[in-house]
This record gives sequence, structure tokens and C-alpha cells, in this order.
Amino acid sequence: MGASGSGAIAARGTNAAAFGGVANHPRISKTRRADEPAPNVADYDEARSTFRWSDARRAFEGRPFGLNIAYEALDRHLDGPRADHVAIRWLGKHGEREEWTYRSLARETRRFARALESLEIAPGDRVYALLGRVPELFVTALGTLRHRAVLCPMFSAFGPDPIRARMTIGQARVLVTTERLYARKIAPIRSELGSLEHVILVGDDRASTAVPGTHDWATLVASAPDEHAIAPTDPETPALLHFTSGTTGTPKGALHVHEAVVMHHLTGGWALDLHPDDVFWCTADPGWVTGTSYGIIAPLTHGVTMIVDEGELDAERWYDTLARERVTVWYTAPTAIRMLMKAGAEPVRTRDLSSLRFLASVGEPLNPDAVVWSQEVFGRPFHDNWWQTETGGIMVANLASAEVRPGSMGRPLPGVEAGIVRRGDDGSIEEIVAPDIEGELALRPGWPSMFRAYWGQPDRYAKCFADGWYLTGDLARRDADGYFWFVGRADDVIKSAGHLVGPFEVESALLLHPAVAEAGVIGKPDPIAGEIIKAFVALKPGFAAGDALSLEIIGFARKHLGPAVAPREIAFVDSVPRTRSGKIMRRLLKARELGLPEGDTSTLEGPGSS
Ligand code: AMP
Repeated sequence: MGASGSGAIAARGTNAAAFGGVANHPRISKTRRADEPAPNVADYDEARSTFRWSDARRAFEGRPFGLNIAYEALDRHLDGPRADHVAIRWLGKHGEREEWTYRSLARETRRFARALESLEIAPGDRVYALLGRVPELFVTALGTLRHRAVLCPMFSAFGPDPIRARMTIGQARVLVTTERLYARKIAPIRSELGSLEHVILVGDDRASTAVPGTHDWATLVASAPDEHAIAPTDPETPALLHFTSGTTGTPKGALHVHEAVVMHHLTGGWALDLHPDDVFWCTADPGWVTGTSYGIIAPLTHGVTMIVDEGELDAERWYDTLARERVTVWYTAPTAIRMLMKAGAEPVRTRDLSSLRFLASVGEPLNPDAVVWSQEVFGRPFHDNWWQTETGGIMVANLASAEVRPGSMGRPLPGVEAGIVRRGDDGSIEEIVAPDIEGELALRPGWPSMFRAYWGQPDRYAKCFADGWYLTGDLARRDADGYFWFVGRADDVIKSAGHLVGPFEVESALLLHPAVAEAGVIGKPDPIAGEIIKAFVALKPGFAAGDALSLEIIGFARKHLGPAVAPREIAFVDSVPRTRSGKIMRRLLKARELGLPEGDTSTLEGPGSS
């Protein structure tokens, strides 16, 4: 992210076509029930004006081991009243149910850290997780952080190509995965993963495993000693590696440090309004940054009970879960909300969802209709918030104490200085102070969860900063009251069902197919997923375009990339439009797809085709 460009066509196309534009919906003001706690931020202006990062950091000083995320999430609670409070209520795919208290979860993470020690894994080594939403994921994450190794969670629906790329870039030493995922995705590429020394397998149905060349979780971890002291952890110690996508080149590993926990904790309180007695459900997949920052770390630092559902999105199942578990704070994503909208209001009416107190959404544009719908159906609006892998934590949010402006991402949190900027041709940055003008969303660096590097790619990191700003790669505008409104991406990166997909990664996989000579990939607006991935393919001589070949190429891509990243549509073209320097003009492909003006095509090489 943080790439440059002036993708106004692509950006506007995304929102307007998919959601019918940002209409002027009435603002939603809220009333608090007598039994609800007071919002954590009572007065936005005062909170912003009195807040200092130095004070916030100081509040985390004086811990016995420095600043370690695992300590903040678990150990800190062990001498107090929350030790035996339920930290995780796990709902298995087939109706299983398990409860883990702060004490029991902490014990397992000590075992995991001991297991890493027994494998001679050093602090700073990368431990990858390719797991669904199972309790072992939480043990792996927090055990790795306890040991001061670097956790890298991967999306379990990735195919072997994205997995290989991410494990190679980050030089994975350990992988924790399941027997089934190992057989399907890792075994076929294991010989190519030169740095990978240890694979720890969680058995199918979480039983023991006996797969050659791997360690069995039940033997290695579950039977490890449960004493482990956290070694001194400097706040700048590397902690988390989250991969994200750019328009060009390989995926980028955004590196976060242990100090990020300061941000996770504060924003969990501010933007999600977490209070210790909450039952909190973050539906994000652990393979993406939301699943770690707000699906593991922030809620545990607040001592809440987290719901973890192994199952996939299903309206009946989700509403049952909200009602049965008495969820109070729910953090989900626009694609999920739109799918629930499609299921209608009836499933809501037949359940008691009165426990719900605060609803929040992140990851893609939340269409104003969805906010209005939630107010009608749940009696509560969804509170949109904005952040990205690189920021590590929520930056801009609609707060519990403020009115919600449907379609707006909210206002910058205390300590966050956000601006709208314009990049000059000479690379200079000009801040646009006047309201309601579109530009790139930029942030003043310095918040604790800001990424510290793209792993092994200092040039790409440096390019994200200019004139004292971090450039987010998003286009937005700010209204006169300081509310930010998302406009689109400044680059060609695709957001499909909340997953950030780099077109280059998809194009590279398509080029491996024997029939494909050229490929250009765009996000095509979709009413549910925001965007779906569409590929424009030029064939090699001797191959005939047609439905059969289209299906074959889609199947091929799914096998390599996984279903979330593979194109859903293929269009055959004579050639893919390129600039004279050979860059694919994805913006032109998109404009043609949307029937929008093609804009400046003076740099187009030869005649493109549609
Ligand atoms: P990721 O790094 O995968 O979390 O994706 C971050 C990107 O998702 C941002 O740069 C935005 O393009 C998009 N995004 C995140 N939150 C929002 C939001 N509330 N509204 C619109 N787009 C969002």
C-alpha cells in the first residue's frame, strides 16, 4: 500500500457502481439504555486535545518484562479477578463448544513457548500459522509472542502460490497448520521452502497426528512443561508480520513491534468501546490483520470474553450465535453485512438480540444503506472504521458517543493526525485543508502500531513516506466537521469480500497456464463482495477462446491461488493494453468494463482491445 497514482476512474467506479453512490442519508443519533456502560470516549474533542502518546506509552511502562504483547493479553490478568474469566468461548464447526479462561489460555501459551525453545527457535525467528479459527491458533499466536519470535498468520484459504511467496519472503522457520491443510497445501511445495525447519501439525478434529517430517501438536506442545518466564522485551522487538498486496511485485510483509499493543488496547476501548464485561465477537479471519489486532490482542487486553466461531458465514448460524452467546460488541465487515441484509430481517425478528450494544465494521466501504438497515433491524447502527495492515490499528472511526454519518468512516482517533494530500509531479506533498476535496488519505507517523518495515524491502517502505506523511494509498475527502469519507483506492489493488488482492499476484499465476499469453486483472464492482476479481486474458496462438477454456483457466487459478484470490470472471481480449513502458493499464481495463470515459490514453502502446 502507499502506492502512488491518480486512479480517480477506478476509485469512483468502485463505490458508485457497486453501491449507488454516497447519498445524503440522515445522521443517526443514539440513545443509551440505562443498563449500558458509558462510552469510553465521552467527548471526542476533549479526548483529542488532551491526549499525548507519551502519556499513553508511560501507562505501559514498569511491567516486569518490558512490553510484551502476550503479557498484556494474558499474564497481566492472572493475579486479578479476571484470571478465571472466560477469555475464549470457542464454537466448533459441528456444534462443539469449549471455554478457555485467561488462566488456561496463558498456561497453553507457556507450553507453546517451551515447545519453541525445545526446537531451538530464537527470538526474531518467524513462526507462521496456517490455521482456521481453532483454539490452537490463539495458543500459537500468543505463545510465539511470549517467546519473542515473530508471528505471521496466513489466510487458510490461500492456495500454494500465495503461501509459497509469503513463506519464502519471510523465511519461515516454523509452520503451525492442520493435518488436512498440510496435505493439500504444504506437502506439495515443502521441498521449495528452504528455510522451513519445523512443521507442527494439529490433527484433524484436533486429534494426534503421525505425519512423517512433522511434529504432532499433542506430543510437542500439549505435553511441554507449563513454566515459562517472559524474557525482557524491548517495545521495539519485532512481533507480527502481516502480508499485504501492492499493485506490482511480490506481496509485502508489514512488520509490527510489541509496542503495537498500546494502540490495540487503546483503540479497542475507543473505537470498539470494549468494557471488561463485554462478550465480543470479531468475525475476521485470523489470516488477516483484523483477526490478530482485534480478533486476538485488543479484546484480551481488555479482559473480555471473545466468541470464536470456527464455522463459515451463515445468517441463521450467526444470528443464533449472537443471541445464544449474548454478544454485546460485534465487529464485522461490509461483505458479511450485505449478505445478512440479503437474508432479510425475519431471522432477526425471531431472535432475542437485545444484548447487542455496539456494532462496528471495517475493511471495505460500508454503504450507507447498510448503516440505515442495521439501525432499522437491530435498533443500532454499524459504526464504520478505517485502518489498514500498515497502520496496525484503527485510525479513523465512528465512536459510540457520537452521531453516525452513514457512509462516513468517522473521525481520526485521539493521537491520530490524518490529512488529505495531493502529490505534486515533483514528489512534493501539499495538504488540502479546504473541506470536501478529494485527495490521498495521509497520516502523520508516530503511533505505536505503525509498521516498522516491509520485510526485506526498505525501498518499498521508504516510498510510503513523504514530507512527514505516511501515504495510505486510499483516496478520501474530509467534510467541514472533520468526518472522513472513503472515495477509493489510489492504486489498482482490489478489495474482494474484504480481502486485499494484488492484481500482479493473480496475473502471475494466470501466466503459468499454457494458453495464456497476457493477463490484466481488475476488481469489478459487485453488490455483495464489493469487488470480484476479473481477468482479461490474451491467448497464445493455437488456443481458442470459449467457455470451456475460461472455466479451465479459472479452475487452474483456483488451484494455484485459492478461491478468494482467483478470478471469478475471464474475458478474452486480443491484447492487454499497456503503456509504452510495458505497464498494464488496469485503469483502462476497468474504465472499459464500467463503460466510463477512458481518460488519458496518450501513453497507450498500440491499439488495445476490449
Ligand atoms: P488491509 O490492509 O487488507 O486491511 O486493507 C486495507 C484497505 O482496506 C484500506 O487501505 C482501504 O482501501 C480498505 N478499507 C479498510 N477499511 C475501510 C473502510 N472503513 N472503508 C473503506 N475502505 C476501507
